[in-house]
Amino acid sequence: MRGVKAEGGWAVISTQECSIHWSADIEPSPDARLWDDRDIPALALMAEAVHEYGALAAIELSYNGPNSPNLYSRLPPLAPSHLPVDDLDPVQARAMSKTDIANVRSWHRDAAVRAKRAGFDIVYVYAGHDLSLPMHFISRRWNHRSDEYGGCLENRVRLFRELIEDTKDAVGDSCGVAVRFAVDELLGPDGITAEEEGREVVEMLAELPDLWDVNVSDWTNDSTTSRFEREASQEKHTAFVKQLTSKPVVGVGRFTSPDTMVSQIKRGVLDFIGAARPSIADPFLPRKIEEGRPEDIRECIGCNICVSGERRLVPMRCTQNPTIGEEWRRDWHPEHIAAKGSDDRVLIVGAGPAGLECARALGQRGYSVTLAEAGDELGGRISTESQLPGLAEWARVRDYRVSQLHQLPQVEIYRDSRLSAEHVLEFGFPRVVLATGAHWRRDGIGRKNRKPIPGCDGENVFTPEDVMSGVQISSPVVVFDDDHYYLGGVLAERLRAEGLAVTLVTPAVQASSWTAVTLEQFRIQSQLMNAGIDVVTNKNIVAVDKTSVELACVYTDARTRLDAASIVTVTARLPEDGLYLALKSDADKLADAGIHNLECIGDCHAPSTIAAAVYAGHLYARECDESESGDIPFRRELTAMDD
Ligand code: ADP
Ligand code: SF4
Repeated sequence: MRGVKAEGGWAVISTQECSIHWSADIEPSPDARLWDDRDIPALALMAEAVHEYGALAAIELSYNGPNSPNLYSRLPPLAPSHLPVDDLDPVQARAMSKTDIANVRSWHRDAAVRAKRAGFDIVYVYAGHDLSLPMHFISRRWNHRSDEYGGCLENRVRLFRELIEDTKDAVGDSCGVAVRFAVDELLGPDGITAEEEGREVVEMLAELPDLWDVNVSDWTNDSTTSRFEREASQEKHTAFVKQLTSKPVVGVGRFTSPDTMVSQIKRGVLDFIGAARPSIADPFLPRKIEEGRPEDIRECIGCNICVSGERRLVPMRCTQNPTIGEEWRRDWHPEHIAAKGSDDRVLIVGAGPAGLECARALGQRGYSVTLAEAGDELGGRISTESQLPGLAEWARVRDYRVSQLHQLPQVEIYRDSRLSAEHVLEFGFPRVVLATGAHWRRDGIGRKNRKPIPGCDGENVFTPEDVMSGVQISSPVVVFDDDHYYLGGVLAERLRAEGLAVTLVTPAVQASSWTAVTLEQFRIQSQLMNAGIDVVTNKNIVAVDKTSVELACVYTDARTRLDAASIVTVTARLPEDGLYLALKSDADKLADAGIHNLECIGDCHAPSTIAAAVYAGHLYARECDESESGDIPFRRELTAMDD
């Protein structure tokens, strides 16, 4: 993955945080380790891959202190002061002695030397996200000490300063020593702020590191989704840094627009453009700018599905870039794809994310493709959902693909073309791909209710599609969210903005609870509550009538009633697979029509995320002409036992 980014033109490719010692283990997060020499070869692979394309390799050495409950090592975490760890684990960190501080310095130094031996060019001292020890020492919330490491800011910065000096001393002869520092925690006077202590720390250490990498903390503030922050939103917090140091400054901001990047540099906000998500969505973003083809950039949509992979402890994934995380597993490259394996013409029915990506990638392979869409607009669910509050950037999933398709003469697109089985048979394309999507259920069946909710057949019950198509909905309205991702909350916001009295009812403990893994849950629930939407948690809806719903507590089954002139059910979806089943049912007719391959992809195969639909379209395009071997279809990591 990182080698591909280097190939794509990024000047420096960095690891995420890399644990330097087993007494701060970060497990079970899938992050790097540099605990002893045996961890060097794995990291050296990355440095080599990055160097192959002339880029520099950087490593974020991190000792997480009270941010690590040490679930793996089972050792008590170390912290400036005795305090519970930052998660809900029933673990307390213990206050560090002077010996502990000396040990951490020595471990950090050893890790820096190992990083250099692994081939890294830039070694970070990490204080970026309220998750590493130097940050905890700086923070008055964490540091209650009264020795020379506590009290005044000069004392609280001491460990950070020492770690930078140690690292320069250990590897500074040939490696750049960078710091990542969160200049504002967005906690007001309770935290570090860019106006006061954040600024003072930069002033104190201004010329010490070789590079300042600055951001805001915590991760939910740093990697905000497009629903809550626009591109370059960190500028207002980090812009001061360059005025205080002659060393280069890098920062992030979900930068995808070359104009915004140039503006940051020209206005003296940053010296270098940093990017995690934009480099995931398009590993070749710099090269495309360099080659003067910004229109080919696959822009990040700010959905944080990439973060969900990290949070769920599985390989990287991305809504925009189906190849991320598959570079090694499947040998997928974001820009290159094998030439077509046959001269089969392909008919794709449905131009949602699955159909569009399938057409784009098949077209790139050289296949002759016909894409038929029932509506007058391309994009499927993207085109409707991106109209909802905060989701405008999601339209980039459609826009990128449509603009790429326009560059592919062998792909023909037909709008206003709802196809029937007869049409498909009549056309007789050898390959037919159905990407006809899915629709939301009206009957209430979902995670909590495995059979219909009585009363859901009434005229006052609506689906998300009804709301999105502007059907008149009476107040008060109950949005029943048994889906737990974004849509229930977003629809509640939309209805509230129209002036309706809205209650969001969910059997989960929080509104939009899955969005915890996209770092949005707190913001979503705050926003709903601030908008005047009642959020009712831990309640199922067990019956509906014309004027109310019956609620059941998920713990006690205690029943209550809630006034509701309308109900919107956000529960589950059913595949739009009628066309597929009709065609599939008659093998002879298919054979007579010359159709030798019929597949159903995306939501019409199994309703899921937009990322899954894009992935399904891409997977079909990559593998449609490969014979199935029955083997595991991707490489996997096999455990090697330590001796
Ligand atoms: P996915 O997420 O799997 O791509 P979407 O629901 O976003 O699914 O998109 C499905 C698209 O298929 C919609 O734009 C819809 O109009 C289109 N569609 C559904 N049935 C037909 C059909 N019979 N002929 C042509 N297009 C269809
Ligand atoms: Fe951007 Fe979403 Fe891809 Fe993450 S998953 S890189 S936020 S498009």
